[in-house]
Amino acid sequence: MRATFPHLLHLDVALGILYPTLGIEIVPPPPLTRKTIEIGVKLAPQNACFPLKVTLGNFVESIEKGADTLFMAGGVGPCRFGYYGQIQRLILEDLGYKVQFILLDHPRYGIRSFVQALRTMTGGKISPARIVRATALAWKVLRFTETIEAKRRALRCLVERKDALDRVVEGTLTRLRWVESVTALEEIIRSTEEALRALPLVREEGEVLKVGIVGEVYVAQEKRINFDVERLLGDLGVYVHNSVSTVEYILHTLPFTRSREKEETWRLARPYLQRFVGGEGIDSVGSAIRYAQWGFDGVVHLYPFTCMPEIVAKGILTQVSKDYDLPILHLAIDEHAGEAGLITRVEAFVDVLERRKKTRRKSEVGRAWTYS
Ligand code: SF4
Repeated sequence: MRATFPHLLHLDVALGILYPTLGIEIVPPPPLTRKTIEIGVKLAPQNACFPLKVTLGNFVESIEKGADTLFMAGGVGPCRFGYYGQIQRLILEDLGYKVQFILLDHPRYGIRSFVQALRTMTGGKISPARIVRATALAWKVLRFTETIEAKRRALRCLVERKDALDRVVEGTLTRLRWVESVTALEEIIRSTEEALRALPLVREEGEVLKVGIVGEVYVAQEKRINFDVERLLGDLGVYVHNSVSTVEYILHTLPFTRSREKEETWRLARPYLQRFVGGEGIDSVGSAIRYAQWGFDGVVHLYPFTCMPEIVAKGILTQVSKDYDLPILHLAIDEHAGEAGLITRVEAFVDVLERRKKTRRKSEVGRAWTYS
């Protein structure tokens, strides 16, 4: 078996640790590029969700590098995620590729097929203790990749040298690919934190604009698809927080774990949306409300063009924006999205936020003068 999987930010780092430990040889998906997108767009139905097209491009490139087994997450309705794997399998079969397609169905809705897929993965030969050890290490690595990205977003607008920040983060991500034990991981975490603390800062967190990111799990996280909006905002001097997390997604998906963060987000969204609409529709609403409560200056809503749950969320976010006086920038991404247009819109948004902040400061100073 020479297995592969689609990209999702740094998921490949964690799976690159997990699969070989389970005795699975992997073919890492080649870097996600414009060519990957073009392949997926050419082969997928025109109206398919953008993430389906991109991950299909990943699969074709990996097969051409020698992969013969594809792992794909399954989903449930009411949106189209449940069809992804099946559609991709049929397209690849039509193209004449002889590959094994292993669909990891949503375990909350079918634990038997999920366990069966895990058995197929390991060939039933690996001891449970080894599976637990490998999974625990890969899980910790995945968590840390998210932590370090969160630090990069938060620090980008504050550090003197952005290139130095990138060097620390990229260096750590490279080291994580080779980690073999929890002790080695702890050493990487310790040295990374030390390196980040050593970066000289030129401003304080309280002085900068704060923007939160909400949206669909793939587009809101995958920077090679969303034109790295986080970096763009950071370079414009904005403190960025991203509410979308693969770790929380997995915690919410598994039958024996729970994501407290997601539960809290759904509770916040309840006055506006009581039903599950698929994908991250509820999360986008709840997370925007949380950002308003945290006193953030604005929210960027990232989603694939035609994404049903996010279109529902977008309608509701218009009301949330009014109720909480929170500016929200909606960015729909697909194969036709252009970087220049996106940059212009983000810059204009930041401009508006800056002017709002200055006006508020002035009126606060005015009020203080009046009352003194
Ligand atoms: S969440 Fe949106 S992009 Fe993802 S499968 Fe559902 S409709 Fe498609």
